[in-house]
Amino acid sequence: MSRRPGGTPQQPQRKTWTILFIVLVINYLLMQWFLGGSNNAVPVPYTVFKQQVASGNVHAIHSQGTSIQGQFTNPVTLPALEGSPQQAGSAPPRSVSTFTTVVPDFADPGLESFLATHNVQISARPIESGSSLSGLLFGFGPVLLIIAFYVWLYRRAAKQAGGMGAGMFGLGKSKARRYDQSQEKKVSFEDVAGIDEAENELVEIVDFLKNPKKYTALGATAPKGILLVGAPGTGKTLLAKAVAGEADVPFFSMSGSEFVEMIVGVGAARVRDLFKQAREHAPSIIFIDEIDSIGRARGQAVMGGASEQEQTLNQILTEMDGFSGKEDVIVLAATNQPETLDKALLRAGRFDRRVVVNLPDKTGREAILQVHTREKPLAAELDLMEVAATTPGLSGADLKNLCNEAALLAAKRGQAEIRQKDFIDALEKIILGPERPIILSNADRERIAYHESGHAILGLVVPGADPVNRVTIVPRGQALGVTYQRPPADRYNYPEAYLRARIIGMLGGRAAEEVVYGTKTTGAENDIEQATELARSMVTRWGMSEKLGMVQLASRQNPYLGVGQRQLDAVSEQTAALIDAEVHKIINDSHEQAKQLLREHRHQLDALVAALLSRETLDEHEILEVTGLPPAPALKDLPNPVKPENTGA
Ligand code: ADP
Ligand code: ZN
Repeated sequence: MSRRPGGTPQQPQRKTWTILFIVLVINYLLMQWFLGGSNNAVPVPYTVFKQQVASGNVHAIHSQGTSIQGQFTNPVTLPALEGSPQQAGSAPPRSVSTFTTVVPDFADPGLESFLATHNVQISARPIESGSSLSGLLFGFGPVLLIIAFYVWLYRRAAKQAGGMGAGMFGLGKSKARRYDQSQEKKVSFEDVAGIDEAENELVEIVDFLKNPKKYTALGATAPKGILLVGAPGTGKTLLAKAVAGEADVPFFSMSGSEFVEMIVGVGAARVRDLFKQAREHAPSIIFIDEIDSIGRARGQAVMGGASEQEQTLNQILTEMDGFSGKEDVIVLAATNQPETLDKALLRAGRFDRRVVVNLPDKTGREAILQVHTREKPLAAELDLMEVAATTPGLSGADLKNLCNEAALLAAKRGQAEIRQKDFIDALEKIILGPERPIILSNADRERIAYHESGHAILGLVVPGADPVNRVTIVPRGQALGVTYQRPPADRYNYPEAYLRARIIGMLGGRAAEEVVYGTKTTGAENDIEQATELARSMVTRWGMSEKLGMVQLASRQNPYLGVGQRQLDAVSEQTAALIDAEVHKIINDSHEQAKQLLREHRHQLDALVAALLSRETLDEHEILEVTGLPPAPALKDLPNPVKPENTGA
């Protein structure tokens, strides 16, 4: 496995409405099943029953007390029945095969012999069973199930709304706790780091909330709604809180996702209540997290949730339109999928301002690390800049977590201060999961060492490869070993030669196994997946295939969620085949190069494996020492791989 820090966020899926639907269907079927028998039986007059017995149309009956049930051998049409109550009015004719009737109170002493002469089989049940527990359960069981389900749903909803176990009846009472009003620990811009552009855009809002007169005197109105757009954990909630904290106004918040599972009508009522409270405490801030889960374009909603989502959304729109501009209530909303939002939400006077919150760059990450280590004792040798450099792709929330894990590790190790090593190990744990004590045979360990060394050697000898800063064969999470490479600086633009170098390096694990053992294992699954994705992107997104040229073949799904979120556009069969062929070519060429380079450096490969088997983990310095290789030359020293006639500048 070869690794770079970074993560793919996942969207939780809401299945409650599907579950509700399935439960209702099951209930319906149960009712049909249990109640079906007696429901289908049509009451007929006693005399009709006797007539039918006399004419040989009845072969068997069940009797229970004074009630008799049975089947007519040939169905009887009801209006033809003399004195039938169903005849009254203009009831349509009904064909009856299962009937029920009641023996009159004065009893019919001749009934038994009458039935016997007409060969009717008699079976009987005791009277009590009609009202027995099982009867009750069969009758009411499904209803109880429905009620139980609703109670469960209420409790869940109430709990999610912050009722903290308030349960069904707490739903209305828990209002006060629903919104985070705790201003005891006020958040300020001091607590927000690394997202300066977004912060600067909000400074103005703070000023407005502090001195509304300054603006209103000039006839200016504040923006009503601001959309904070950015990946999860980048600090959107934190920013909203900081705005409230800086302006010293109350902060009311709710999360869009809690409405998706809510009972119809509650969402809209909540919104009304939320805005009412905010108005009463104006100037104030309302923060709606995950607004995409309610603000999703109408018609795009999930089954069952649609009407509730729409009602909630409409209520938000109504409330925002109701602002007179004098109220000093500013609504901040957060999302990572702005493109899915209903256009109505983005119209002027609603969320017409957009503030993008980006993942922090290296300097930003260092600043965030500083914020979250403010109250922690740090060792003098600890270099936060170095930690920031090894963590591209991590969000503010990830970095906060990293600081905490490092502190936990330091405590576990009995140290008084947090050291660099604690951060490195904490990072490894966060990215790959905790160390996994598994017993490996010597042969397996050696094979893993060759796999990782294959990645590492290529990271040293392929020009343009990212420096290798750590190799380990300590199993962690899903990985049996890991090679870490990190770019010397955050990269925003990837030269083709760099991408090729990366693919060659990714295939180095398998290539080493092949060169040394001549056989393959499953250990390269992850590498193959990553290499293929990268090669596919080169062909379909970055115009790096000569055969396909600069045509975009995969569209951006969600620019805020990183590079992985793409989908192949609809293309012709020939184009699809060509894409596959070009991807194969990149992978196959890289694979051959990887094997070739490892054969050439077999000596260094063996040396690295020997060192890994005895020491398990090697850092950058040790890797260079053991292999005697210099770091890979940087790309700027290289000729451009694109043919000169194609280079524009
Ligand atoms: P989001 O709302 O974008 O998902 P949050 O604001 O909930 O992210 O971030 C969670 C936590 O991560 C914050 O409470 C804060 O402690 C930390 N954090 C995130 N971004 C930053 C940042 N830019 N500066 C400092 N801390 C941050
Ligand atoms: Zn690998």
